[in-house]
Amino acid sequence: MAKIVCVLYQDPVDGYPTTYPRDGIPALDTYPDGQTLPTPHDIDFVPGALLGSVSGELGLRRYLEDAGHTLVVTDDKDGADSVFDRELADADIVISQPFWPAYLTAERIDRASNLKLAITAGIGSDHVDLQAAIEKGITVAEVTYCNSISVAEHVVMMILSLVRNYLPSYGWVTRGGWNIADCVERSYDVEGMTVGTVAAGRIGSAVLKRLKPFDMKLHYTDRHRLPESVEQELGLTFHPSAASMVPVCDVVTINAPLHPETEGLFDDALIGTMKRGAYLVNTARGKICDRDAVVRALESGQLAGYAGDVWFPQPAPQDHPWRTMPHHGMTPHISGSSLSAQARYAAGTREILECWFEDRPIRDEYLIVAGGRLAGAGAHSYSEGDATGGSEDAARYKS
Ligand code: NDP
Repeated sequence: MAKIVCVLYQDPVDGYPTTYPRDGIPALDTYPDGQTLPTPHDIDFVPGALLGSVSGELGLRRYLEDAGHTLVVTDDKDGADSVFDRELADADIVISQPFWPAYLTAERIDRASNLKLAITAGIGSDHVDLQAAIEKGITVAEVTYCNSISVAEHVVMMILSLVRNYLPSYGWVTRGGWNIADCVERSYDVEGMTVGTVAAGRIGSAVLKRLKPFDMKLHYTDRHRLPESVEQELGLTFHPSAASMVPVCDVVTINAPLHPETEGLFDDALIGTMKRGAYLVNTARGKICDRDAVVRALESGQLAGYAGDVWFPQPAPQDHPWRTMPHHGMTPHISGSSLSAQARYAAGTREILECWFEDRPIRDEYLIVAGGRLAGAGAHSYSEGDATGGSEDAARYKS
């Protein structure tokens, strides 16, 4: 029998919800490219419920305990005296979400001698030291596509919100003002602007598709070029690198995984080549941008705005400068954890567990590391190495 340690974000401050604003979520048939949605034998939750917080337990407890396994769920994940650190010692499986990541550093992996499987209930397994997982033969799997469209919707919202100066304008209303000039002195239309995405995978291409009706000029860079038919249909301009794309963009959106190739990509030098007053939206991973370079660019006016939901580390300490820098539209890491997305990644996590315990192969598209190497989706989109360094800092967060 296995011991599963599941690290989830904290419940709402006023308690686990007993009602929701809506009575359910739409049922989807497939993902846009035809990939099937998660197909577990069964689920023990109501789609549309809060599953990603501690009391939601990803809807897994009944399934796991009925099968004789032990499930430990905690939000206490950082520092040597954390519940996660203690429980990890004899855990067989770790489940964690990128929103509240259980950083599986090489040092922790070393101490977890029983660990065989790390599941990301979501997309993006950079909180696991993939190099260490490769070396220790640990399987890493994530629920590919579960929240890609959720994030794409969030990116569009953040681009419009920055360019049109939505958040400061909303602030004037809640403070009792009617300060039109204060609101519009930083407000533009996106129509006619050039937007570029760093990576045109599931999220990046969905963002481009959604921005096309806004009559923006669409650019992208990626390690693999999109089919010519897609480039023509959306009127895309391809660039061989971020360096060649960003100087022509008014808006840049980052949609690549964090791995050694993308870590720190947006530094002073790259941001310095962008148009003065460009907007940068990063819902991919905080570490893809140099924290202090972003602050400097907003302060100098090189960037007119920065928005996103990803930070490093997570949770971000109270004194993280992105909380207080000018002209930002940051949220906590939420874009991929809408109630709609939670139903899909909870079902996907269950599917991966069922495969594991029934000795059936995990879908190739869910695999990041298997058999001591990058595999499946991981082999396509990641590179070997470690992006978890510095995550100990998350222990400084106090709720
Ligand atoms: P995909 O795997 O569909 O797309 C990732 C794309 O990034 C691939 O096309 C890949 O290229 C490309 N890529 C990888 N490295 C580079 C590079 N150095 N330069 C340019 N392109 C690169 O994943 P998704 O679109 O679904 O998700 C992308 C990322 O978004 C995730 O890895 C995660 O970090 C983040 N994310 C954030 C969420 C949130 O809640 N904020 C939720 C979900 C995801 P190729 O495969 O062609 O080699």
